[in-house]
Amino acid sequence: MSSKTILITGGAGFIGSHLADTLISEGARVIVVDNLVTGSMKNIEHLLDNPNFKFIEHNISEKLHIEEDLDWVMHFASPASPIDFQKLAIPILKVGSLGTHNALGIAKEKKASFFLASTSEVYGDPLVHPQPETYWGNVNPIGPRGVYDESKRFAESITMAYHREHDIDVRIIRIFNTYGPRMRADDGRVVCNFINQALKGQDLTVYGEGKQSRSFQYVTDLVDGIVKLMDVKYHLPVNLGNPYEFTVYELAEKVLAMTKSKSNIAYEPLPEDDPKRRRPDITRAVELLNWEPKIAVEEGLEKTVKYFAEKLELEVV
Ligand code: UDP
Repeated sequence: MSSKTILITGGAGFIGSHLADTLISEGARVIVVDNLVTGSMKNIEHLLDNPNFKFIEHNISEKLHIEEDLDWVMHFASPASPIDFQKLAIPILKVGSLGTHNALGIAKEKKASFFLASTSEVYGDPLVHPQPETYWGNVNPIGPRGVYDESKRFAESITMAYHREHDIDVRIIRIFNTYGPRMRADDGRVVCNFINQALKGQDLTVYGEGKQSRSFQYVTDLVDGIVKLMDVKYHLPVNLGNPYEFTVYELAEKVLAMTKSKSNIAYEPLPEDDPKRRRPDITRAVELLNWEPKIAVEEGLEKTVKYFAEKLELEVV
């Protein structure tokens, strides 16, 4: 990675900031572009004095001119939590469409490679299980999740068009549920909700009966897969996720046990179009990258509980 200059949109966000850390530690120069709508300066403040780091506050849905030469444009900007899908519906649609177009435009001008952070949401409420990259998905385009799902489907589409039409060297990953430090406490996603509720002694809000399943990947495993894919010239989508699948109810039990919390479970209505099952088929990533997730859910949850516990202590002080 040394001597490479890499632009990361959304680099002040949860995943983008972990990626920035890793790339800098491997010797790259990193330019982060973020409008801080869901990202936070707290995630990158430790990098601000690093001569290999630069921060530009900007919404990538608007045009951006970069002076420096670039080797990579990595497009990670987007609100990504189901609660954002309602609050930030139009910004999400814009960053997946206009933002991806602008980011691709920068890559084209700089003759840089382009890396798209896509999502398992392109599979919608999947009718095929587990989900291989060859599955086209089951998305409701006009439902509440459609703003995110369709913006990412469009993002994949325009990325492949730029690859075919302009010969841009592209990568596309489909990220499955990922968790870890630097998620927002009020992000609304299940791992941070349950941990924060358990730590505060509040009821854990299980939606529906909690029988829906997910497969949760710790953030460092994801970053490891991303960095490996940068070195492999493969242009079709690659799933990155942890295939270990369990139900939302089981997750609640794990969090309660780990935090030794006395919280109860409160059942709330299942959100519209909430996928019933989700598990990545990671055969492609395993074969292509010799990658697989290493962090067991207990270990990852422990690190995440520690992170949120420290944050809460700071808030109390
Ligand atoms: N969920 C829940 N309680 C919460 C938040 C989420 O039961 O407080 C459920 C949600 O209905 C979904 C799963 O947990 O079935 C994962 O939700 P999340 O928002 O983390 O991400 P998604 O996989 O839906 O994008």
